[in-house]
Amino acid sequence: MAHGFADLHIHTDYSDGFWSPAQVVERVVAEGDLTVIAITDHDITDGVAETLAAAAPHGIEVVPAIEASATTDKRPIHILGYFVDIDDPAFLAEQERVVGMRVERMRKMVAKLAAYGIEVDMDELLAFAHRGIVGRLHLAHFLVRQGAVASLEEAFGRYLADDRPCYVPIGSNTPKGAIEMILQAGGVPVLAHPATSQVDELIPAMVRDGLRGIEVWHGAHSTEQSRYYASLAKKHGLLVSGGSDCHGPGKGEVLIGKVKIGLEVVEALRDAAPGKPGP
Ligand code: AMP
Ligand code: FE
Ligand code: FE
Ligand code: ZN
Repeated sequence: MAHGFADLHIHTDYSDGFWSPAQVVERVVAEGDLTVIAITDHDITDGVAETLAAAAPHGIEVVPAIEASATTDKRPIHILGYFVDIDDPAFLAEQERVVGMRVERMRKMVAKLAAYGIEVDMDELLAFAHRGIVGRLHLAHFLVRQGAVASLEEAFGRYLADDRPCYVPIGSNTPKGAIEMILQAGGVPVLAHPATSQVDELIPAMVRDGLRGIEVWHGAHSTEQSRYYASLAKKHGLLVSGGSDCHGPGKGEVLIGKVKIGLEVVEALRDAAPGKPGP
């Protein structure tokens, strides 16, 4: 009989998390009661295999997953994909395309910062991101490091947040495109952190496009917000999910352990995974 709890939203340094897969596993083990985790790096599944290898000796299950970026007219949103096939060639090609678009997008953001008198060396920034696909959290840390801003909050508040002047959307996918990418890879598409994204009015269209769930519990959701999104999931006949969205120590509070969900949630998602469409 399976025991323990799950955290289905964790980043590694393959995206903008500040822990390697081995460090993530070390912290998961230290929690004591987490037996299932999902690695949900932004737009990349490269960290899954390393996490699986690190977790196996501890008997911790790793759900292969992704947090796919999508652009809407209003703001960026994130679609989690659980139980994706990380060896699917088309899925990997799609990830490569998005990673390339992220670099181009970052060049545009760097150009916008220059107009505010902030010079960022793109090569240094990419080196700073190390093996992680480059994102705004890297850029924010880089700005702090070079003294252009005093804090992450200032970096986002003045320049990088969704509604600030140096923000450029990634533009890699619409929500429909992200959902289809996940379905094609055999995964279950779930809307990430809806209380942060504030796109409730888009949910019915996303459900028509194949969305199967909502992330009800999240490191930044209040109890009221989780209750509200649980009711919304029920209303739309959607599955529920939850996780801490831990990025390690690079994003304020270390969130691992903050959200622990029941294993029945994992089983419902597993049962819903379509598997890859046949040839
Ligand atoms: P990107 O995918 O490059 O657009 O970056 C999105 C990531 O930036 C999120 O997953 C967070 O890690 C981080 N982020 C976005 N907005 C904020 C914010 N206001 N404060 C701190 N981190 C943020
Ligand atoms: Fe992130
Ligand atoms: Fe997210
Ligand atoms: Zn995340």
